[in-house]
Amino acid sequence: MSYVDSRIKRIIITEDEIRSAIKEAGKRITEKYYGKPLLLVSILNGAFVFMSDLCRAIDAPLEISFMCAKSYYNSTSSSGNVNITMDISQDISGYHVIIVEDIVDTGRTLSEVVKILNARNPLSLEVVTLLDKPDRRVVDFDPDEALFTIPDYFVIGYGLDCGEKYRNLPYIAEYNEEA
Ligand code: 5GP
Repeated sequence: MSYVDSRIKRIIITEDEIRSAIKEAGKRITEKYYGKPLLLVSILNGAFVFMSDLCRAIDAPLEISFMCAKSYYNSTSSSGNVNITMDISQDISGYHVIIVEDIVDTGRTLSEVVKILNARNPLSLEVVTLLDKPDRRVVDFDPDEALFTIPDYFVIGYGLDCGEKYRNLPYIAEYNEEA
């Protein structure tokens, strides 16, 4: 029996599609960083599933770390105030850092996190996101790699929640706000 309810409008990215996109991303990252000090930094909570699969698709020595970021902003300001509620503990100046994110929406969270981590002088910094919603952008920010570009849907599953639920769905689905 499968866990599907009326809140799920339709599946937009299947488990197979996610698996094969992650395999490709893992291959690219392996080729680029093999033999270099590599640190994957994931933004909790949403990116925990993507981080878990992406790190296992990389065939190179690496370290992982997690941070938690909350955005606070008002509708008149284009730049958000991002509060780091849990930070990484290591000195990143000796690492090539990849930020592993679930979704880039307005771009506020990641543009701030990138500024914060860049100020700590990593050897290099790139952003890999599972999903990108460029139509929703309010700040000038582009991830280095987006595995999937999607329209302005509110999506759930594969780590992404609605009211803390649905993170355990193995696929990405459009949320049915009318249900
Ligand atoms: P941004 O700062 O780019 O506007 O927002 C990033 C965060 O907003 C994401 O990490 C995610 O937590 C949340 N978010 C943005 N779009 C969606 C969506 O379609 N579904 C869910 N579940 N969360 C979203």
